[in-house]
Amino acid sequence: MATIESQLKVRIPRNVKIAMFSFTEYFKGFEKVAAVREIFGEETEKALGNLKVEFAGIRGYMGVSEIDGHLIVGARYLNEGDPVDIYLDIIHELVHVKQFLEGKELFDSDYNYVERPTEVAAYRHAVKEAKRLGMDDGRICEYLKTEWMSDDDLQRLAKTVGIKLVHFKAK
Ligand SMILES: [Zn+2]
Repeated sequence: MATIESQLKVRIPRNVKIAMFSFTEYFKGFEKVAAVREIFGEETEKALGNLKVEFAGIRGYMGVSEIDGHLIVGARYLNEGDPVDIYLDIIHELVHVKQFLEGKELFDSDYNYVERPTEVAAYRHAVKEAKRLGMDDGRICEYLKTEWMSDDDLQRLAKTVGIKLVHFKAK
């Protein structure tokens, strides 16, 4: 008897490669940023040199692949997002890249998103850089708030990273 699969009159490719690019080919100067060097230390050039980036047609912002640690960037966000937000997101994601290289579990679902230790570390580092750039608490709150984060979560995150929750007009 024919298997169900053998009845399919189509051909489906398997083991396709994800189209990825060299991070340093597209994102210039990050190896000189003190906040980045603080993450990777002496290994900064090597870590960024090995990092691959995938530009994806997704609704989201950016993230790190839990399979191989490459950076995934929403093409639309990159095209239309605020440059400072994008810069801080890259700083945030590079903390995850380092965590991945250290073998840490990036998506530990035992924790709520804003309390997950890997997220707390990434947010703290990005907020430290935001403060260095002179961003006030209101602007930092605006940066931190995403449409999928509840007011409670934002409040908790603001407290965790040491800023006052300031109300702002939604984007
Ligand atoms: Zn994160």
